[in-house]
Amino acid sequence: MDRVIILRYSEIHLKGKNRIFFENILKRNILEKLRGITCKAEFGYSRYIISDYSEDDETKLIEKLKTVFGLYSLSPGLRTSSDTEAVGDAAEILCPKEGTFRITVNRADKTLPYTSVQLAASIGGRLLDKFNALNVDLHNPDFIIYVDARDRATAYVYSESILCAGGMPVGSAGKGLSLLSGGIDSPVSTYMMAKRGLELTELHFWSYPYTSLEAKDKVIELAHILRKFTGDTRLIIIPFTEIQEAIHKFAEPNYMITLVRRAMMRIAERIAEKYGCGCIINGEDLGQVASQTLESITVTNSVIKNLPVFRPLIGFDKNEIIEISKKIGTYETSIKPYEDCCTVFLPESPATKPTIRRSEASESKIENYESLISKAVDNAEVIVISDD
Ligand code: ATP
Ligand code: MG
Repeated sequence: MDRVIILRYSEIHLKGKNRIFFENILKRNILEKLRGITCKAEFGYSRYIISDYSEDDETKLIEKLKTVFGLYSLSPGLRTSSDTEAVGDAAEILCPKEGTFRITVNRADKTLPYTSVQLAASIGGRLLDKFNALNVDLHNPDFIIYVDARDRATAYVYSESILCAGGMPVGSAGKGLSLLSGGIDSPVSTYMMAKRGLELTELHFWSYPYTSLEAKDKVIELAHILRKFTGDTRLIIIPFTEIQEAIHKFAEPNYMITLVRRAMMRIAERIAEKYGCGCIINGEDLGQVASQTLESITVTNSVIKNLPVFRPLIGFDKNEIIEISKKIGTYETSIKPYEDCCTVFLPESPATKPTIRRSEASESKIENYESLISKAVDNAEVIVISDD
């Protein structure tokens, strides 16, 4: 008998002929997650088993596996042979010694010398004999012991199922570039698109010295927290100071934010193309601030030529976003009080209904606009986000 963790995957079973493609990416991501912990991973048909680990590592393994997108649930349990004695031994170990219980048997191998009901009755009887404070309740038990009898040599016995992250395996949907500010929203939008299977590169605009070294460290810290969902990734830092200064100098004050956003999008599209990303992601949410009105989004979006821009938070309320950020562990870092570059040179009344025509007119006044954009792209700093 040995301790195992049983893994079950989520939507992949809907994938028909492409299933192998998704499974292979999921297996790769699971193995990446297990790096550094001694254990064995067995990948069977629609069911994966982790075994041969030290008992001390079980909690750590569960915490890590819970964050792998593409896994639906997992169960720590015991693996034993399918004979009644052995399954009974396992059930005794897992069963709390008091309360009400039920045994649920799945008999995958129909040649086994008992029916599901017979096995459940025999194990249940043994537990009742052994522990006086136990009672059977078939309909509303305190706990259920599951027996999954695969074949004569193998049965899995477990009593809990822990929900995992769900979604699709990171990398199965292609590559995306996620705009990561130091705020609450963009770590959540990054998480949400990793959940749908995108392999992400992260992009941050940094206006030193208007935004501090701490502001940059904060984004690096966020990228590291997100790594448990995104897997190893890279964070690209764009030196944005000169562009912001130029926009400030030449643009109409109330168009400052609009032009900053357009410059960000121009740079993002070039970086995306350079790194083979097929989409851009940001944390915009309709109506949240002046730069996120329908008109503002139209005007910033219009500089993007070839790629779709995904805004997974567009219909969320701020408190819903905060809830997710707390759940994924980015909230406490996001609320650290370091200024983001968007708050630099903030106009008193930013345009809430900007137009493309006026934006272009303002941009045409900026000296060397195009070369400033190219220079920022060329001077990008690339930070590898991994645990090495
Ligand atoms: P967040 O909490 O993500 O900062 P926000 O409500 O502050 O969001 P904005 O500052 O308007 O919103 O930014 C909207 C989106 O633009 C962000 O979610 C992010 O994707 C992107 N963005 C803003 N500032 C930066 C930055 N300095 N670097 C990278 N992306 C940015
Ligand atoms: Mg922000």
